[in-house]
Amino acid sequence: MVGVTPLDVSTADVAKIAEAIKPAGMYNIRSKTLKQVATRVLEQYNGDLTTIVSKPYPEARKALMSLPGVGEKTADVVLLFNAGKTVIPIDRHIARIAKRLELVPKNAPYDAIRLALEEVTPPQNYLDAHIKLIQFGRDTCRAQNPKCIQCILNDICPYHPQ
Ligand code: SF4
Repeated sequence: MVGVTPLDVSTADVAKIAEAIKPAGMYNIRSKTLKQVATRVLEQYNGDLTTIVSKPYPEARKALMSLPGVGEKTADVVLLFNAGKTVIPIDRHIARIAKRLELVPKNAPYDAIRLALEEVTPPQNYLDAHIKLIQFGRDTCRAQNPKCIQCILNDICPYHPQ
């Protein structure tokens, strides 16, 4: 088998996992969680999540979220990228953009943001929307000092001081 397996991760030293994922940030916490998840996937699912992710979205998501450290966003990312489910995972960039554009209220929870974006996006474009919104949040609609002057949405954005 090619790549890193749950068995590899569950038997690896936490320090080695941390070293391997260093560029992703928060590696000390994430390395411990990864080891826990790999162990659970091995014990509970025989190292293979195919049966889980093949289930209908709500069921698959619930099963993934029962794993250590797996929240709504992580479960949705796995389901979109690995199982082709029609879902738009919401990360901090996407949440910020949706709130600034007032697509959702400022205190909207994860699923309210996800549903609002899914409603206005054709399902075949969910993956593209997820990737491009994150890029837009990194490049233009940044948390600090958003580049509103050059933003193509500044004439319709309530956040942008006209
Ligand atoms: S105008 Fe500013 S706040 Fe509004 S979407 Fe563009 S960058 Fe974000």
